[in-house]
Amino acid sequence: MTHLEKSYEFKAQTVIKQFAKRNIDGYYCTNREETVKLMLSFIEEGKSISWGGSITITELGIKDILENGNYVLIDRDKFSGEERNNKMREAFFSDYYLTSSNAVTQDGMLVNIDGNGNRVASISFGPKQVIVVVGINKLVPSVEYAVERIRNFATPPNAIRLGYDTPCSKIGVCSDCLVKDCVCGQLLITRFNRNPGRIKVIIVGETLGF
Ligand code: SF4
Repeated sequence: MTHLEKSYEFKAQTVIKQFAKRNIDGYYCTNREETVKLMLSFIEEGKSISWGGSITITELGIKDILENGNYVLIDRDKFSGEERNNKMREAFFSDYYLTSSNAVTQDGMLVNIDGNGNRVASISFGPKQVIVVVGINKLVPSVEYAVERIRNFATPPNAIRLGYDTPCSKIGVCSDCLVKDCVCGQLLITRFNRNPGRIKVIIVGETLGF
């Protein structure tokens, strides 16, 4: 293990200790393969699974594995218009919800910014279990730093990816917009989980997502 990899593991373990105080179950995996195995070990066959829009979840390749397994998938990306909206609502009743977190603070809080609000709604209430995967690049010192990071580093490429007409998709940094396509409608800080066992966070010792 390199010094850098060792520092990732130490950092992750520091955050995982803080998760415990907040009723969040924390895990560390060194790479994507280990992460997918751990995620699958949490998910019971025959149950329903959904996810939010997440580059991290896509990069893990777990969606293809689930497609070929014995699970009921609620995948809004296979639909458009009102049907897509209905799938997003259906996700609220799923057994498992897969997502990343836009940032995780050193003292164990999850920070998420959302346009529609469906993802932050599902993190806070709805799906019976929430499995959160974050690359080591998403660990930050504080909530203030998290918001800065999300709006200046994560949201611009996301807005470009989704073809949104926002200032950050044109100039690459946040200008605190209030336009129709604004990706930053809702800000969720998960500081405590009242349902022990509901939220699991896997920190991965690799860069994942934005
Ligand atoms: S507030 Fe607007 S400009 Fe700033 S990151 Fe969000 S969508 Fe982009």
